[in-house]
Amino acid sequence: MKIAIFSVQSDSHIGIVQDEQIISLTALDPDEFPACLKTFIDRSSELRTRAEKLIEKRVNDDAIFKLSEVKILPPIAQPEKIICVGLNYMDHCKETGMEPPDSPVIFSKYANAIVGHNDAIEIPINSTEVDFEAELAIVIGREAKHVSEEEANDYVFGYTIMNDISARDLQFQDGQWSRGKTADTFAPFGPAVVTKDEVDDPHNLAISLELNGEMMQESNTGNLIFTVPKIISFLSQSMTLKPGDLIATGTPPGVGMGRNPKVWLKNGDKMNVRIERIGMLSNHVIG
Ligand code: MG
Repeated sequence: MKIAIFSVQSDSHIGIVQDEQIISLTALDPDEFPACLKTFIDRSSELRTRAEKLIEKRVNDDAIFKLSEVKILPPIAQPEKIICVGLNYMDHCKETGMEPPDSPVIFSKYANAIVGHNDAIEIPINSTEVDFEAELAIVIGREAKHVSEEEANDYVFGYTIMNDISARDLQFQDGQWSRGKTADTFAPFGPAVVTKDEVDDPHNLAISLELNGEMMQESNTGNLIFTVPKIISFLSQSMTLKPGDLIATGTPPGVGMGRNPKVWLKNGDKMNVRIERIGMLSNHVIG
């Protein structure tokens, strides 16, 4: 199931993406399906069955929209946590000149950074070195505390795409990365969340990023140093993961800071991040 939050005129909906269409569950049953993915995740076993039945009935045409005619919103507006894993592809470590870590490198973003598909990324007024990072992101489905690697998949709801926008000058001026990683608009993600049953193996997905039509990053999630179960287990030993939490798993090589000459984002740039089975996240740059 490919689930997206979207708006038409001033109304928000939760819907299921099918090819070039989106079927609004909110339009079909507004009481059961408010435009909130967290609500859906919290009651997912019950609501998924209900959603499947509603869609099977093939509904009224008023509930079907063309994807090109709606505004896609961030799938989760206020996750409790946005956790990111740094340096999680071997070749990316090399291009940044850093040693591959012995255990996952963890940092955070805040909700101020969230934007959705087709939204603008704003260059902060105090940065001239803004970079891109294509990443597979995990969406947590159940409260997870002290979870083993073997059990970890039970706690995954699905997957989405994040572009971990990073102001390198701010990131490395400070002892910690936060200021450079969680500027306003620096956590674009979406457009949809794909449930884990449709992803199959999260460690065998082509991942790429195009900047203005030129391929900058091209890899496979099979190259992750720390796998999805390892990351979930590692985090859950000390912090309870909650439904709707997002975990960005790290970026492959090809980012702007690893290039010669370096490439920094500028006004008018367009980025497309693609992950096999998940979709394509597009954003443009202003500032
Ligand atoms: Mg990253």
